Amino acid sequence: MPILRLAIPSPLRAEFDYLPPADMDEEQLAELKPGIRIRVSFGRREVIGFLMAVVPSSSIDASKLKTALEILDPTPLISETLVALCEWAATYYQHPVGEVMPAAFPPGLRKGRVHIPRGDPGWSLTVQGKGLPQGALGRSKKQALALKILQQQGLTPTTVFSQNNISAAVLRALRDKGLIQAELLKLAPTTAQCHETHELNSNQEVVVDALIQHLGMFGAHLLEGVTGSGKTEVYLQLIAHCLRLQQQVLVLIPEIGLTPQTLQRFETRFSGSIVSLHSGLTDGARQRAWEAARDGSAHIILGTRSAIFTPIANLGLIVVDEEHDASYKQQDGFRYSARDIAVKRAHLENCPVLLGSATPSLESIYNAREGRYKHYLLPERAGGSVLPSILPVDIRKQELWGGLSSTVIESVRETLANGQQALLFLNRRGYAPTLQCHDCGWIAECRSCDARLTVHRRRGKLRCHHCNASQHLPHQCPTCQSRSLMTAGLGTEQAEEFLRQQFSQWPVHRVDSDSMTGRDAMQLLVDKVMKGEPCILLGTQMLTKGHHFPAVSLVAILDVDSALFSADFRGEERMAQLLTQVGGRAGRAEIPGQVILQTHYPDNPALLATVQMPYGEHARQILVKREDTGMPPAGKLLMLRTDSVDAETGEQFLLKLRQQVEGRLPATTKLIGPLPSPMQRRAGKFRSQMLVITPNRQFAQFAAAELVKIAQTLPLGRGMKWSIDVDPLDTF
Ligand code: ADP
Ligand code: ZN
Ligand code: ZN
Repeated sequence: MPILRLAIPSPLRAEFDYLPPADMDEEQLAELKPGIRIRVSFGRREVIGFLMAVVPSSSIDASKLKTALEILDPTPLISETLVALCEWAATYYQHPVGEVMPAAFPPGLRKGRVHIPRGDPGWSLTVQGKGLPQGALGRSKKQALALKILQQQGLTPTTVFSQNNISAAVLRALRDKGLIQAELLKLAPTTAQCHETHELNSNQEVVVDALIQHLGMFGAHLLEGVTGSGKTEVYLQLIAHCLRLQQQVLVLIPEIGLTPQTLQRFETRFSGSIVSLHSGLTDGARQRAWEAARDGSAHIILGTRSAIFTPIANLGLIVVDEEHDASYKQQDGFRYSARDIAVKRAHLENCPVLLGSATPSLESIYNAREGRYKHYLLPERAGGSVLPSILPVDIRKQELWGGLSSTVIESVRETLANGQQALLFLNRRGYAPTLQCHDCGWIAECRSCDARLTVHRRRGKLRCHHCNASQHLPHQCPTCQSRSLMTAGLGTEQAEEFLRQQFSQWPVHRVDSDSMTGRDAMQLLVDKVMKGEPCILLGTQMLTKGHHFPAVSLVAILDVDSALFSADFRGEERMAQLLTQVGGRAGRAEIPGQVILQTHYPDNPALLATVQMPYGEHARQILVKREDTGMPPAGKLLMLRTDSVDAETGEQFLLKLRQQVEGRLPATTKLIGPLPSPMQRRAGKFRSQMLVITPNRQFAQFAAAELVKIAQTLPLGRGMKWSIDVDPLDTF
């Protein structure tokens, strides 16, 4: 009796063996393919598992195996390639495959809903029917006619039979004889049209030509192009080419906030089916988009991180826009990088992957330098606009109003008077990051985290940005009852308040996750700003990603210093990316742009490097430092983390893990920790961590497997959890 080996959604890192349902015959068993959904009982629950393999025997005695309850799909809903991708990701990230496989399905199907394929009903011949000589059904004229049609046409729509006066009863009779079977017709392919395009400049042409040469085979291509250099135009023209070849294209973008504008740009360029996949969709909408990608009717699939697991019938190209963006990495649970998985998927699907950015990650720059990625440059802005000039402003000893120096205030005034828009960047929402008692020094802190509470004055709240705890803004100090409470530091609410007073005749738009609530908030704002009327945009990171605001000619970064002193090894890279990206919003059209950086540290080397040299050059300097220290991308990292109710439990666990694993790892693999995490307490849990530095991917994979193998055997303290993060984004 063959055994079904299943991936089951559970934190256990194992596959589980089941006996096939009793009523299945050998022929049916032979049909079972990896990826099929199967309902089984697991512990005390009924769950939906995924078939990974049919194996001849199990290490567990057959009498102890449970029987699977129901085979949900006659054939797998996802391709073998996608199953292989999930298996690869589970191994690479050391995550249970049972929690990876569901990523390839929409929620309804994960829960076991019946899959109803789309298409028009039709009939086709069975193997038996095909073997029948013409005229074999001589006595029944209608049946013979139906058979003749099928022999001539293959899969035939039901309507053809009714046109020929063949009734449903006749077709049923043939089916009962086992000669024909009902089958859905593939949806008629709609063709995608591409509307007017730009004539490519020579740099763009090089990329498009090269990629066209590489269609149909794997290759990773890095497109490094300054903001506004026409990267998106390159994507669009490549996509047009793929569509002409009847191929589908998957485009990954970093965040949902970007979707409306990007979607719009694609929709204006192409008539055809463009579906978008992101976290803001209802289950129904998600399932429809998934289905259209799967059955080949969607031409372009535009999605955020998780869309990398979408089944796509005829994938011709993957584009990862803003490939450096941190949101491609999932930060909890299944901690994967969609960018890295995109490269693997392209490999398995035999298609090219195009990674684009104005500020590529050091990983991608390194891969290009090592010859693993092809590399293309777009060094100039398309359409003739010039890159903005950058002016650091020393704000030491200067008076600030709402966080703005007189230089910034004057520049904003001038910009508005010239009929242009100003964008002010401050990566801290709320009114102020600290509430303090002037008399006794009390500071409002979160009860569950090692963090201060942020003042949200408009809503009259103190809020924790780490655990979302919220309380009323106190009027007096809880320790000494003094009423002299004061705020310190600056958030977007406060800057907004000042700007509204100072520039009352102009609109001020605050853009952060507090103000941009609701599905269409971002779109409405973008529409307003695109009209080009003078206004002030004030916002956090949310504002800076990929938006095209042609009338913005001034960008001011109010608090560069907060980015200067990151304890993380990626700090300088992140700062350089952020400043280049934010600065890149200025002067997109005919108006030359100006970027102002307010800082207390005008001599900081990292800041100077960002100001004085192009990102690409700066990045390559940082890369040299990483190679010296063996940090990524030169080396590879793993991070083990624990969460526990007290500080010791987690650290003890990691210590035991370290002691047991150390002897098994090569000397070049370095362990650092266990240590308390930089924010030790968060949402009431104590956190600790251990960092593993290895010289390359093979060593990292080996260490990851060993660590997980041992960690699974160690007793867990009460309420304790551990996790492994392969290629962590930061060392916090
Ligand atoms: P990026 O994606 O690199 O930021 P875009 O593709 O958005 O750049 O291009 C920036 C602007 O330049 C857009 O308005 C775009 O329409 C225009 N553009 C791009 N390529 C060309 C070209 N070859 N000729 C003229 N304009 C172009
Ligand atoms: Zn006090
Ligand atoms: Zn908190």
